[in-house]
Amino acid sequence: MSSIILEARDIRYRYPRGMEAICGISFHIRKKEKIALVGPNGAGKSTLLTMFNGMIRPDSGLMLFDNQPIQYDTASLRMLRKRVGFVLQNPDRQIIAPTVYQDVAFGPTNLGYSETEIKEAVNQALRHVGLEGFERRPPHQLSGGEKKRVAIAGVLAMDPDVLVFDEPTSGLDPSGSEDIMELLDELNHEGKTIIISTHDVELAYPWADRAILMLNGKILKEDIPEVAFGNPESVRKAHLSLPTLLELHMELQKRGFLLKGKKPRTVLDMMHCIETLFENSKKPGRHGIITVCNVDLDNGEYLSKWLSMHTGICTGAMGTRAKQCAENLKIHLDFTYGVIDKCILKALLGEDTLILTTGSMVKRVYLRVDAYGLESGVHIPVHPLTTPEESNEKNEGIS
Ligand code: ADP
Repeated sequence: MSSIILEARDIRYRYPRGMEAICGISFHIRKKEKIALVGPNGAGKSTLLTMFNGMIRPDSGLMLFDNQPIQYDTASLRMLRKRVGFVLQNPDRQIIAPTVYQDVAFGPTNLGYSETEIKEAVNQALRHVGLEGFERRPPHQLSGGEKKRVAIAGVLAMDPDVLVFDEPTSGLDPSGSEDIMELLDELNHEGKTIIISTHDVELAYPWADRAILMLNGKILKEDIPEVAFGNPESVRKAHLSLPTLLELHMELQKRGFLLKGKKPRTVLDMMHCIETLFENSKKPGRHGIITVCNVDLDNGEYLSKWLSMHTGICTGAMGTRAKQCAENLKIHLDFTYGVIDKCILKALLGEDTLILTTGSMVKRVYLRVDAYGLESGVHIPVHPLTTPEESNEKNEGIS
């Protein structure tokens, strides 16, 4: 196993006039690892990243680089920043010179390279990121993806051992994002340690060697992605969603399908799992019922009573008002995104569910379940949550 390149020992940090952004974090990162810090906005990812090259100094605890405590004097920081390159989320904040060449040359010039060395470093860095021929271009005329590459080239020109990327694909279109992630892989294959921050689970899951799940300045979980994202409860706690492939794998397992091989990280892995399925199918005898409660029509009293008669039922909420209502009534929510599909999945396992929602989204539940029925031939019952009086009124109307 490779040796440790970065380590944090119980670090804490509070912004001046701010709240504590890093609340006692310890971890280590090994050479040549691909690490994803994953968490919602405000989790503390950027703050933590900026500690890796000494831009922020922890109030307490210790940051180590290459097994040595980071020193914060100017000369030490200059050396550290040569070895730990930092690519900001917004390239406009990183690019400062009027031409691409001058911008990429900025780091090597500051490090005191000779003219020939600077030229060599810039050319090599631009080649690396696929921007040969862009030397004289003004950066502000480039596309978002190209600017990002200029920013990366500026860091690569110093040939760092570790590359830190704050939200590397932020603002890029899907193909621009794929290009950048591919570049990160390439750099990793060349021996660089790569650390990214992201709230994009689908990006982190197949990419990282290890994922560090963060929330409120703390680490919730840290492991290989299959394990870090493998517990739906901790993923929900981190305000994240399960990676689609992992969710699909879990649903297949719940249905009793015997899946061979490892948990899928890629579509290819998934195909391997699916190929093993067909001999092992097992179907539930009954489909679960989805009950829909329009919280605008319910004062909460009946809903609470109904829930007390249906303890343990999986509950989802769609929309801000429904989530607010659940919070007011202290209703535990199992699903807060992709709610209808998750309830359909439960129904297919024979489990009943409750959806709290409002207004036109009530109709959306019926339409989605109907559409699923048409597609699959499986008809899942959906009922509104009605008080006994409402049911009686309806029945009287019918008779
Ligand atoms: P993330 O990168 O996960 O979105 P950040 O590290 O940017 O999270 O922020 C962590 C916490 O620190 C948040 O509560 C945020 O509001 C706060 N914070 C970030 N930057 C500053 C700052 N310059 N001054 C005060 N508080 C800040």
